[in-house]
Amino acid sequence: MKVIQIKQSELDAGLEKLESACRLIGPVKEKNYHLFKTLESGQKPDLEYINTRLSAKSVLYPQSEVMFEFSLDKNDEQYAVLREPEKDRTPRAVIGIRPCDADAYKVCRRNFDTEEYQDPYWLKNYEATTLVGLACSNPCPTCFCTSAGSGPFSDKNLDILLVDNNDGYLARIVTDKGEKLAASAGWNTDAGSDAEAAIEKSRDQAESKIRSAVATDNLEKQSLIDLYEAESAIWEPEGFACINCGTCTYACPTCWCFDVQDETYGKSGVRMRNWDSCMYPLFSVHASGHNPRDTKIARIRQRFMHKLKYYVDKYEKGIQCTGCGRCVRLCPVSIDIRRVCNKMNSYNPETCSCEITSG
Ligand code: SF4
Ligand code: SF4
Repeated sequence: MKVIQIKQSELDAGLEKLESACRLIGPVKEKNYHLFKTLESGQKPDLEYINTRLSAKSVLYPQSEVMFEFSLDKNDEQYAVLREPEKDRTPRAVIGIRPCDADAYKVCRRNFDTEEYQDPYWLKNYEATTLVGLACSNPCPTCFCTSAGSGPFSDKNLDILLVDNNDGYLARIVTDKGEKLAASAGWNTDAGSDAEAAIEKSRDQAESKIRSAVATDNLEKQSLIDLYEAESAIWEPEGFACINCGTCTYACPTCWCFDVQDETYGKSGVRMRNWDSCMYPLFSVHASGHNPRDTKIARIRQRFMHKLKYYVDKYEKGIQCTGCGRCVRLCPVSIDIRRVCNKMNSYNPETCSCEITSG
């Protein structure tokens, strides 16, 4: 891996060059928060941001997406044929994605790219995307990425990692995709032999600012049934407060559930998939009307058991969370995954208690 120096003016000039080669997506300020948006011609990403309100999940996995169109109109030349609508699969680059959000794509890939099923919508978007990450020098107090398998300087799922160095950015080129993008942008100034050491020093400084952590070392050893049945110790106090607003799941980069619906217009229509949330009362309703998760306790248990136990047991590769802290910051009733995780990790079925009992 090599490191190059990109001055601010070179970054701007390079992005202008890239406009003709790919679609650029970056953080844009709206009111008092930032969101990832496709950049207009000449528009620059705002890299002075801390983190976006919503994650970059929608870049690969839009909140609503047409899967295919159909028609039963005999006058339609596409009668009885399912067809995928035209989609923009042209190359695009996400400029300034945080390492936790890039790591979240790796987590989601375990769901969208399995031996049995390869999700064409997610995968084609993923393949078309180059990830230019921005190291996090000033993590939020709610971030706990270092104990969730990621880190403020993690480049594990990036093509390029940018590190702010006053004069612009040190850029670690991680993959061939990143190399190609840097060449197209004209970024090629060798940063010198001290560059890696400077990045490591900045990383250590950033990691030392992270005050939050979750304990996950015992989750795999815990009995699934014991955790599921820990109602009074874990699920009742958390479920009591939850108002099932779904904010946590919509903001989360690693929540991947969707609902499939047909929208028909006369004799033709589209099949859509829309983000859904296990926190909604209708999420698990069966066609019979029976709802196996008809209480708030059942729904909150599902969210945390999925992220912190079912995922752990199924993949044996960490938790389904990258520690971005969004759900902690945005939950209107202060339900905190760090507290729930520490409770699950420390739960003792003999005494029906956890080491942590409250926030
Ligand atoms: S954001 Fe909080 S209140 Fe809303 S569904 Fe999630 S845990 Fe419940
Ligand atoms: S569960 Fe919360 S902290 Fe973890 S990735 Fe999702 S939003 Fe971020």
